[in-house]
Amino acid sequence: MPRRDVGSFPLDETLVGEGPNFPDLSELEVIRHYTRLSTWNFGVDTGMYPLGSCTMKYNPKTNERQAALPGFSGAHPMLPAALSQGVLRMMYELERLLAEITGMDAVTLQPAAGAHGELTGMLLFHAYHKSRGSRRSKIIVPDTAHGTNPASAALVGFSPVNVKSNERGVLSAETIAAVMDGETAGIMVTNPNTLGFFEEEIREIADAVHAKDGLVYADGANMNALMGIVNVGDIGVDVLHLNLHKTFSTPHGGGGPGSGPVCVKKRLEPFLPVPRVIEENGIFRLSDDFPQTIGKLHAFYGNVGIMIRAYSYIRSLGPELKKVSQLAVLNANYIKERLKGFLHLPYDRPCMHECVFSDKNQAAQKVTTLDMVKRLMDHGFHPPTIYFPLVVHGAIMIEPTETESKEDIDLFIEAFKSVIREAAENPGELLEAPRRTRVRRLDETAAARHPCLTC
Ligand SMILES: *Cc1c(COP(=O)(O)O)cnc(C)c1O
Repeated sequence: MPRRDVGSFPLDETLVGEGPNFPDLSELEVIRHYTRLSTWNFGVDTGMYPLGSCTMKYNPKTNERQAALPGFSGAHPMLPAALSQGVLRMMYELERLLAEITGMDAVTLQPAAGAHGELTGMLLFHAYHKSRGSRRSKIIVPDTAHGTNPASAALVGFSPVNVKSNERGVLSAETIAAVMDGETAGIMVTNPNTLGFFEEEIREIADAVHAKDGLVYADGANMNALMGIVNVGDIGVDVLHLNLHKTFSTPHGGGGPGSGPVCVKKRLEPFLPVPRVIEENGIFRLSDDFPQTIGKLHAFYGNVGIMIRAYSYIRSLGPELKKVSQLAVLNANYIKERLKGFLHLPYDRPCMHECVFSDKNQAAQKVTTLDMVKRLMDHGFHPPTIYFPLVVHGAIMIEPTETESKEDIDLFIEAFKSVIREAAENPGELLEAPRRTRVRRLDETAAARHPCLTC
C-alpha cells in the first residue's frame, strides 16, 4: 500500500518500516458506514424507549454542549488545582445540589455506576461498623430489590438475607424487625422498589434497623419518581446512591460511562472515598486528608464528563425537577390505568414512575411476555423491561419517563392493545414477531456470549 504524506510533511521513507495493515478508507466512506449502522439501532432520539428500571428519558442536547466546552473537555486530571478551579467548583457545587435534592449531608461523585455506588455504600457500612468495634456478616435484601444489591453486598463479604414483600408489594416493618439482629450490618432497600411502589413503611423499617445499630442503604437509581417530593434524609436513610445516567440525564444503554454518586448522613461522612473536593476562602482543591476514608474507588475523581451533564441538567431545570418527578409518575399511572383491563395487573394500586403487568391473561393462548414485546418492535417501540422483577411471573415493566408526550404515550397504548388483540385472535402470528426489524428473533444467549462484530 503506498504511504501518503501527512499534511505538508513528506514522510521520510528511510524512517518508516512496514506499518500496520489498516484499511485505507476515505472520510465519506467512513461517514456512510457509521451513519448506515446508526440507523439499524434504536435510541431515545428515534422513538419511545419505555424500559422499566432504566429511566430512558430524553437527554437535552444542551448538556452535551456544556460537557464539550473546551475548559471542561480539555481539562486534564493531572493539572494543578490552581488551573482547574472551574471543574473543581462544578464538582463541589454538584455535590451540594445532590445533597439538597436528596436531603442528605455529604456526597462522593467517584463511583462510576449504580452498582459501583452500591459497592461504595457497602464498604461504608463495613467501615462504620468496624469503627465501632463491631463485626457484622449479614445484610437484609428484600425480594423487590434490584438484582445488583445482593451482588454488591456479597462482594464486600456480607451474606444477603432475603425477605419477602407483603401482599401489597411492599415491605412490612415487622418482617424486618423480626430478622434484624446484632450480626446484621443493615438493609438495602430499593425505593421506589422494583414493582414501582414506594416503601411506605420505610421510616418504621429504619427505626427497627437503627434499634440494633444497623444502617439503612437506599438504592436511589429510581430517584426520578421522588425529586422535590421525598426528602430521603428525613426518612431514616443513611446511605443512598443515585444514577446520574438515569435520573440526571446522560445518554446510556450502550454501556457507556456512567456515574453513581453516593450520598450519606453526617455520621458516615468521615468514611467517604478520597480525594474529596474542599473549598477554602473561595479556592477549591482536592484533599486526601480524611484518616477514616475507605480509600479510592476510581482513577482520579470519577467520570467527570457525566457530572457536567448532570450539573447542566440540574441547573437548567432548578425547582422544575419536582415537575419531572410528577410527570414521570403521572405518565406511568396513565399507562397503568389504560392498559389494566387488557393486561393482567398483579398489584392494582397507584404506582410511582413505572408499572408492572404480566402475561397471565394471554396464558390460554400460549402467548408470552416475550412474544408481545417482540411485536411492539414492529409498531416502532422499544420493548419494555421483561421478566423483571422476579416476584412477578412473566413481568412486563413499563417506565414511560416524563419526557414522552401524551400523543406518544397514547400511540404506545394503542400499539400494545393491538398486540393484545392479536394475541387473542391470531396468536400464531405473534410467535413470528418481530417481522419488520432488520433481524428477526435472536438467540439472545448466543448473541451475548458469541457476538459477531464483523458482520
Ligand atoms: C440501574 C439500576 C441499578 C444499577 O445501576 P448501573 O449503573 O447499571 O450499575 C441499581 N439499582 C436500580 C434500582 C437500577 O434501576
